[in-house]
Amino acid sequence: MSSDDSSNERMNFQLLLRRRGIVDHAVLKAMDEVPREEFVEAGTREEAYADAALPIACGQTISQPFVVAYMTEQLRLRPHHRVLEIGTGSGYQAAVLSHLAAEVVSVERFRTLADRARLRLQRLSRDNVEVQTVDGYDLPDELGLFDRIMVTAAMEAVPDELLGRLTKEGILLAPVGPQQGTQMLTRFTRSADGVAREDLLEVRFVPALRGIARQL
Ligand code: SAH
Repeated sequence: MSSDDSSNERMNFQLLLRRRGIVDHAVLKAMDEVPREEFVEAGTREEAYADAALPIACGQTISQPFVVAYMTEQLRLRPHHRVLEIGTGSGYQAAVLSHLAAEVVSVERFRTLADRARLRLQRLSRDNVEVQTVDGYDLPDELGLFDRIMVTAAMEAVPDELLGRLTKEGILLAPVGPQQGTQMLTRFTRSADGVAREDLLEVRFVPALRGIARQL
């Protein structure tokens, strides 16, 4: 592909995100700065900037770009935030988050995916991201609290322990619903009065499963 083709492709990518309603300039800039072709499988690079989810290793998927941008926007990030992502997958969402927050911890239950994502993120010098092979349903205490949590796998319900990982005014975003079919992207916002819950958008994610995957 020539450099003209690739800059056209990047421009169309920005247009498609704007057309779908993404308005936050910092989010659009982060989406522009992360080369999605580095996060997809070799056979699907031609489709890296189409608005579609694509298959990655271990039977998982890299999310559709609009959904990545939308979730990032709805997380209301500030530059000083410490962020947790559950479901590293390719590492693409973590890379986008790393442009907008101070620190990102991303956890993945497949060691293969975690190892590959870590390498990609290192290659792109995303030095404020740490990838760990950890079950998001069983987070080690040492990980501490987070200003923002983004779950990128479908949960039938968000466990209270996970909401307990939020700082005082923290926000958690998760696709909530059945493992098959569609889920409701839900935003949980913590305050002194408790946790407020808002439905945002119907989405379709692969399921969040318990335990570290036995398959590599
Ligand atoms: N955010 C990813 C896409 C996520 S796909 C990206 O940008 O590419 C969902 C991922 O969540 C899969 O890789 C799956 O293995 C992982 N996952 C599912 N259940 C999990 C759990 N309990 N803990 C950690 N990761 C989990």
